[in-house]
Amino acid sequence: MKKSILNRLRDILGSLYCKTDMEDRVCYSYDSGCLHKVPDAILFPENACEISQVLKLANEERFCVIPRGAGSGMTGGSVPLHEGGVILSLLRLKNIKKIDSDNFISVVEPGVITGLFHREVEKTGLFYPPDPSSSDFCTLGGNAAECAGGPHAVKYGVTKDYILGLEVVLPTGEIIKTGVQTAKGVVGYDLTKLIVGSEGTLGVITELTLKLLPLPHAVCTMVVVFNSVENAATAVSEIIRTGIVPRTIEYMDKASIKCVEKFLDPEIVEKADALLIIEVDGTVRQTEEDMLNLKELCFAQKAVFVETAKNKSEVEKLWKARKSISSSLFRYGRDKINEDIVVPRNKIPDMVKKIEELRTKSGLYIVSFGHAGDGNIHFNIMLDKTDKKAFKKAELIINELFDYTIQLGGSISGEHGIGITKRSFIAKEINSVELNLMKKIKALFDPNNILNPDKIFPE
Ligand SMILES: Cc1cc2nc3c(=O)[nH]c(=O)nc-3n(C[C@H](O)[C@H](O)[C@H](O)COP(=O)(O)OP(=O)(O)OC[C@H]3O[C@@H](n4cnc5c(N)ncnc54)[C@H](O)[C@@H]3O)c2cc1C
Repeated sequence: MKKSILNRLRDILGSLYCKTDMEDRVCYSYDSGCLHKVPDAILFPENACEISQVLKLANEERFCVIPRGAGSGMTGGSVPLHEGGVILSLLRLKNIKKIDSDNFISVVEPGVITGLFHREVEKTGLFYPPDPSSSDFCTLGGNAAECAGGPHAVKYGVTKDYILGLEVVLPTGEIIKTGVQTAKGVVGYDLTKLIVGSEGTLGVITELTLKLLPLPHAVCTMVVVFNSVENAATAVSEIIRTGIVPRTIEYMDKASIKCVEKFLDPEIVEKADALLIIEVDGTVRQTEEDMLNLKELCFAQKAVFVETAKNKSEVEKLWKARKSISSSLFRYGRDKINEDIVVPRNKIPDMVKKIEELRTKSGLYIVSFGHAGDGNIHFNIMLDKTDKKAFKKAELIINELFDYTIQLGGSISGEHGIGITKRSFIAKEINSVELNLMKKIKALFDPNNILNPDKIFPE
């Protein structure tokens, strides 16, 4: 990047907040998706006005700007794709501006860490349900840009269901407000929903108005062990079919149980070929009733062991196990190919059967776990990408997995988005008319293609 441009960026942000040392640039060259490209600079703006000036300059000088929250994304969304990009970190915009318990809304900046927000909201007796497993470190802005899901989505839905309005800096530098600060509102096209899930390609989110709920009185957690993945999957479909709505049904296969065994009861590790973590919430009476019904139902579905967490520390240990899977997987391989397909919930047994078939057929190290309650299975292949034969095999397996997902009426990504890694597969699900419409929307928002360019769409 030309020195003159860097100097103008320093004029906008101050030298301290425009970093160009190689050490800093390397730290911002990747996300959690194993992709890597070193940006030219990292910018740390303080407010929407500075972001607007940066984007206006980017249009003038034609350099790329890549928004970034915590960099926990799985598909390369916050990684530069081309030479000459700058990372726009949103981490300095970290104020919780308002928690309004009269109107059940909150106004926040995008750099607020999701888990911290949960704790602040809960102090006031309120509840913000979206809880990606990365909530200890990801940001609310990143959640909005990816439309993050998480374990609570079974009962409560995903991030888009809780965003009432946004402040956004458009790629051309104008600052707009979308949506409402009220419980409902239908004036004009729904720009909020368009921007949520747009993976940082249509605008930079600088403020979010979020919907809150009353905090449930009671939460109960149990772990259910099965001696086959098929039985676990059938139990999930059966729970959904009976109409009990747990807030969480998380699934772990044998390989994922093995990699976090130190957080689990040895009896569970010994007996389990698959397990479910099921959580219900509501009134004390309701949760007790639901737990009894679920226990009965799971035994009827051939569960071999059911244990209810007795206290907060047992609950935390279970969640520690579940939330550690993703990072612990690197025990099994240097590189990870990570997919997050989603299928209709009555098709989960078909999907786990397919995954077993792919594992046997390929001989690759495949680990699956995820938010089974909403049909969302994380499918991981652990390998060394320099092993060309294994990599080729993995590509074929992913192709087959995606084709089967679509055949079952599912989608190739439930929550991680397309980013860079799934660009070449998007046309499996979205036809050319729809893709062209999306490209036209991108061009309308970003005529010079400077904001997170060429993500999502096939090359
Ligand atoms: C261990 C682990 C567990 C995970 N579990 C889940 C899960 O349960 N559910 C789930 O959905 N995801 C999960 N993820 C993926 C990831 O955490 C989410 O996608 C999360 O929403 C990303 O937030 P972030 O702040 O890290 O965003 P980043 O990774 O920094 O960015 C993600 C995308 O959002 C854009 N972006 C970021 N901030 C803004 C902004 N303010 N304005 C515009 N665009 C922006 C970026 O350009 C990029 O395209 C997990 C990841 C890890 C590592």
